[in-house]
Amino acid sequence: MEEKILVQVDHLKQYFPAGGKKVVKAVDDVSLAIKKGETLGLVGESGCGKTTTGRSLLRLVEPTSGKIVYDGETIFDSENNIKKDMVEYRRRMQIVFQDPYASLDPRMTVGDIIGEGIDIHRLCGSAQERRDRILSLLKTVGLNSEQANRYPHEFSGGQRQRVGIARALAVDPEFIVCDEPVSALDVSIQAQVVNMFEDLQQKLGLTYLFIAHDLSIVNHISDRIGVMYLGRMVELAPSDELIFHSVHPYTKSLISAIPIADPKTARQSKRIVLSGEVPSPVNPPSGCHFRTRCPYATAECAEREPEWREVSKGHFAACHNLEKIN
Ligand code: SF4
Repeated sequence: MEEKILVQVDHLKQYFPAGGKKVVKAVDDVSLAIKKGETLGLVGESGCGKTTTGRSLLRLVEPTSGKIVYDGETIFDSENNIKKDMVEYRRRMQIVFQDPYASLDPRMTVGDIIGEGIDIHRLCGSAQERRDRILSLLKTVGLNSEQANRYPHEFSGGQRQRVGIARALAVDPEFIVCDEPVSALDVSIQAQVVNMFEDLQQKLGLTYLFIAHDLSIVNHISDRIGVMYLGRMVELAPSDELIFHSVHPYTKSLISAIPIADPKTARQSKRIVLSGEVPSPVNPPSGCHFRTRCPYATAECAEREPEWREVSKGHFAACHNLEKIN
């Protein structure tokens, strides 16, 4: 894999007004870098900010502050007031949404849904070329040419997600935010779709940010995994390192919730069961956001936000008590 960074996000914040003076800190100072050709997985419970992070870095929602660099070009920098025109980047940076039904226009044929991006970016010179491209994209995602004239409701959930993927691929992107792309699908279909993402990556040299709440799916497809809790990144490491040698109590709790078939692996991970719900991002706990559910919390955890530090090569975590816990 090339070591070139394709997407770099620094101190990304995404705050939304929540009535009166209140704000929801959906993404609160997240930094990450995605290497060309890799899959960075992003996990966490719902409401942790992972989806908002994906949408903000594509500027589908304009970030409150921070810096986004794509392929060496700064496309957003709140400090220096840089807001690049996104037309070119909309082609290069695509998204596949969680709910394939809600994201496909029910009045358009699948052929036209796939062709829309081709038209917007004027990628085909003739109607024939456009049609050939649509048919070839259908084939790429395992659908057939007759299906181009059908409507989304005529497809199963898995097939609709294939249409969503063909639509993203239609503009020949380099980078795709996969926003919980299998969460709405039957378990039996999930593996097929995940495998397809992997095959497409191999074939087309794609780079993914793969967002999911299910750590076992993310682990399967990702080179590295980042874990978010209440708007902040708490741990980031190469996938195997994260699964077998996680250091942050929140990551440990997520891992201990994965059903493990191999008893040897099961013994290595100390089981941590969390009590309570994720607090509201309108009023997050002071210091470490995880402290209200953390079995290791100390007075310092309420006073100071833990620093993001490298615990071993390429393995980062934010916690005051790593030495005591591990
Ligand atoms: Fe737990 Fe404190 Fe570490 Fe936060 S900083 S994860 S509360 S021990």
